Amino acid sequence: MPIRILDPRIVSRIAAGEVVDRPASVVKELVENSIDAGSEQISVEVSGGGIGLIRVGDDGMGITPGDLESAFERYATSKIANLEDLESISSLGFRGEALPSIAAVSQIEIVTRVASESAGSSLELKEGVITRRGNRGRSRGTTVTVRNLLRNVPARLKFLKSSSTESGHVANVISQYALSFPEIKFTLTTDGRTTLRTPGSGRLIDSVIAVYGTEVARNMIEIGTVGTGWEDREKAVPLTSGMVSSPAITRSNRSYLSFFVNRRWVNNRLLAWSVEEAYHGLLMSGKHPLAIINIAIPPQDVDVNIHPTKSEVKFQNEGAVFSSVQKAVRQALVRQAPVPRIEDLAVKYQVTREPRQLPGLPVTTGQSAPTAPLTPSLSLPALRLLGQLANSYVVAEGPEGLFLIDQHAAHERICFEQIKQQQSRQEIDVQGLLEPATIEVNPRQDAVLQSHYQNLTEYGFSIEHFGDRTYIVRSVPALLHNKDWMAVLRELWEATPFDNTTDWMEQIAISIACHSAIRAGQSLTEDEMRQLIRQLEKASLPNTCPHGRPTMINITSKQLAREFSRK
Ligand code: ADP
Ligand code: MG
Repeated sequence: MPIRILDPRIVSRIAAGEVVDRPASVVKELVENSIDAGSEQISVEVSGGGIGLIRVGDDGMGITPGDLESAFERYATSKIANLEDLESISSLGFRGEALPSIAAVSQIEIVTRVASESAGSSLELKEGVITRRGNRGRSRGTTVTVRNLLRNVPARLKFLKSSSTESGHVANVISQYALSFPEIKFTLTTDGRTTLRTPGSGRLIDSVIAVYGTEVARNMIEIGTVGTGWEDREKAVPLTSGMVSSPAITRSNRSYLSFFVNRRWVNNRLLAWSVEEAYHGLLMSGKHPLAIINIAIPPQDVDVNIHPTKSEVKFQNEGAVFSSVQKAVRQALVRQAPVPRIEDLAVKYQVTREPRQLPGLPVTTGQSAPTAPLTPSLSLPALRLLGQLANSYVVAEGPEGLFLIDQHAAHERICFEQIKQQQSRQEIDVQGLLEPATIEVNPRQDAVLQSHYQNLTEYGFSIEHFGDRTYIVRSVPALLHNKDWMAVLRELWEATPFDNTTDWMEQIAISIACHSAIRAGQSLTEDEMRQLIRQLEKASLPNTCPHGRPTMINITSKQLAREFSRK
């Protein structure tokens, strides 16, 4: 075939494919337009997973009758005018592609009115061709209705999932924008049912309640704003704000991590990684936090024009952004490391138990359960030793009542922080073995030892290669003196050895801590228990062990009084 320039209709179909890959991406573009128009209220309606109908209505500035048809031209936009504008984008849209792309693959109707006009104007298009122009009464704002999406692109249609899955993607888009714009009232109606409604109060916590529910909201910690303003760009640190979950609640995947750069919802694996890094040692493996992270950065320092869907960004100084995020999250977690309280357990219990009827008394329902207190902001108060329980728990009294400390978990935390500190100062206490130990390894173990040789040395293991697959161990970290130090090597062998994403230094520290720590079932002298408490008081994250399990629980004096019906 000779080379020829493609027909404009084919061009627009190809271009549409980049922006419109599923109903949720149409919703995203329309909602972004409504936000850019300065709306205070945005209502979204979808049916049949968005294939049947998508309708987005707003109370924004509207489009003048003279501009209405140009809004559907390719590369027509009111948001940027020249090359300089492209360098510092402050609106969500700027490519002038969404309306023409959506119009090319659907039947679309727009009704819009600007404040200065007495009536609204409307326009209908089918597969990109105008089929009707008209006037219509409406208040200020714009409503776009999309029907029969992708009907003329059967190849794409075929790849869509069930309508409930597609509705789920739509709900996710609205949830993200609700989190990014708490000052806007969002309503989402799915197949006739209201599925999300935010109050538009301007407070992030209200959006969190609407999107994730009150239980999650109660466990969210505000991250203090970290960073500086933009006056001095040379020294400016990106501003990070938002909320993260306390370690008390987790999710089994990363889809509850939301990132907004200058309020644009973005995907970024490295940002997700920096948040998760801040939780290191606080969550069990396989568990993930929830987070809403807002990053404010001079628009010139971030490129949003790297993908047609504008959902990926490139930072000029990635390192500064990631470290600002990590610092903000870590600070919030350290500040509010919670001690789980017995009330929390009680509430869980009470809301699930059946209403109970006592003779002569009215029926009580689980609904009247007391709400659990917000996680206390304190780290660990000074504690007075009372004794040991079941050779496993240290019982102590503090200003806030009774503390039950899991001796193994608590000591694990202490050892973990000790070994990490020694390693970072390169002052590991080592213990020479009286008799060097010879170990023989299989090829896989050999490979693991080879690749982690340096890590082990940094923690005080002195291991020498001694012919073929034999090694001699001459010293171990002093914390493991008279302990099962081989277990640390065994755990290393059992882990996935060549996975670069794992922080191996951290893993080895956790393993050393675990095998150095006092076991459950071990009887302790009063002195040993006092020492344990003193050391725990000094720990920087005393409330969880490095695996993320709690080191202690707290039964408050108030709770005791209530249980004994004193109050
Ligand atoms: P972009 O958002 O990149 O400018 P679009 O194709 O999404 O491109 O929209 C084209 C233009 O139509 C916008 O620049 C804006 O002027 C106008 N527009 C679209 N939707 C709305 C809306 N809801 N309210 C007001 N103006 C709108
Ligand atoms: Mg747009």
